[in-house]
Amino acid sequence: MKKRFWRNLIAASLIIGCLTAVSVAEILNGRPRAVMAGVPGRGAATLIIDPGHGGADGGAVSVTGTYESTLNLDIALRARALAGLFGINCVMTRETQDIEYPEDAATIRAKKVADTHGRAELVNSIENAVLISIHQNKYTTSGPSGCQVFYAPTEGSPELAQRIQDTLRQLSEKNGRGAVQIGRDVYILNHVSCPAVLVECGFVSNYAEAALLETPEYRLKLAALIIGSYVGGLS
Ligand SMILES: [Zn+2]
Repeated sequence: MKKRFWRNLIAASLIIGCLTAVSVAEILNGRPRAVMAGVPGRGAATLIIDPGHGGADGGAVSVTGTYESTLNLDIALRARALAGLFGINCVMTRETQDIEYPEDAATIRAKKVADTHGRAELVNSIENAVLISIHQNKYTTSGPSGCQVFYAPTEGSPELAQRIQDTLRQLSEKNGRGAVQIGRDVYILNHVSCPAVLVECGFVSNYAEAALLETPEYRLKLAALIIGSYVGGLS
């Protein structure tokens, strides 16, 4: 446990140190600057980390056979652990693979709808929140790879999306070249009032990227870069 703590701390410190003008010493001294850049006067925000899918909805299936919901949860839990090191107040939309559904949600579709609506309600019930939703991408052919970040039509969202996309480029020369896009068809991004982004970390249909996503080291890197981007935007 202790070993993991220090490994996460070192990973986060290195990445944050490289990425941003935020002083790690300042954060560790208990004075995190907690106002979202681009949203002046927001005060200390609660970061909501949303591991996409789960329960009856596994999401996309990787070429390795792993469900997207499993990868999303692992990256999200690592992100929460790293955010905690910086004194960021975090809420998760789910912490396990199990999801409780209303009794009248009989079909998988009804369960998905109830779950998605519930997540949006949770986000909207938290004052001064920032939402980061974690997903994986899939395409019909194995060619496409790399991350892509979508954003909500709310204040502060495009800036956060751009920071994450720019940061994820550090994973490889090819990664994260695409432009950030407004998430027109993403329910949660269009039903929350806070700054919100959805990070498609990589393509589970691409053999090389799917293999990377199977490794805990790569998932830790993704988590650290996402949290690094968030902390980098605090001012
Ligand atoms: Zn997804």
